[in-house]
Amino acid sequence: MAAVILRCDAEVLRRWNYRAVVEQVAGSGIFLDRWRADSCPGVDPGSEAWLVVEGSTEASSGLIGHGFVTSQPYRIAAPADPGPAHWFFWVAWDSLLPLGEQVRPGLLGEALTDDLASRADGPSLVTLPPSSVPVLRRLWRAHAPSTADPLEVAGGTFPPETLRTVRVNRYERDPDGRRACIAFHGTQCAACGFSFESAYGVAGVGAIDVHHLVPPEILDGAYQLDPIADLVPLCHNCHAMAHTATPPLTVGELRSIMSAAGHLKGEVVTEVALQAQEDARRILDGGRM
Ligand SMILES: [Zn+2]
Ligand SMILES: [Zn+2]
Repeated sequence: MAAVILRCDAEVLRRWNYRAVVEQVAGSGIFLDRWRADSCPGVDPGSEAWLVVEGSTEASSGLIGHGFVTSQPYRIAAPADPGPAHWFFWVAWDSLLPLGEQVRPGLLGEALTDDLASRADGPSLVTLPPSSVPVLRRLWRAHAPSTADPLEVAGGTFPPETLRTVRVNRYERDPDGRRACIAFHGTQCAACGFSFESAYGVAGVGAIDVHHLVPPEILDGAYQLDPIADLVPLCHNCHAMAHTATPPLTVGELRSIMSAAGHLKGEVVTEVALQAQEDARRILDGGRM
């Protein structure tokens, strides 16, 4: 999956009303924005994006945000504009630092190779080589606002017998994978369509589970999580039901059980989710990736 640095000037942040956007991301977890590029950008849904602001001084510049690309690039030619058409794609920003707290260009430069280091005259979109991605993730994790998983139960809070065990694996607890999955698939349960936000409002934000479709027993050391193909959002009920079988029931199986019982509303499974389920099934049957 590609990773990119997106550069902007301070004017873009002003247009966003940056302070309000930082608050929105802290509260709801996501700010969706359409990004413009001058040529066809090498991004796909799920590409990781880092936001670098180029201010007039060192103190007003640096790495300030993280997010995921959520659409394919598309082109719009403005009828009144004889120049080249612009390219656009959507980005879900999921973690933004307040202005003034960005990771300064010096630190960013140390973390990246020379030709990628922040330059005022650099292109607005830079594709990162795979070797730079873990470096940048570490740097971001060290500076980013806390991304603690709200679902994590604090150790020692409840006596063990009061907790019902739902077997999850570490991929379902990975905050980066979780964010990418939700940015792409949304927060509705992929099996029954339930939305915690619609049902509970603010209290329901962040309540959806993510379920890992690839059974743990076939994962080997070389496995790399693809958060869009391998993770799906599930409500707590559907997630618990999925894990009543080994290997877990697929989303398709959950849906057919519910539809047989007359509990299924509307079509909510996306083509990508269906494909992922088919892949998971194929892997299970064939026992290979
Ligand atoms: Zn559900
Ligand atoms: Zn699961």
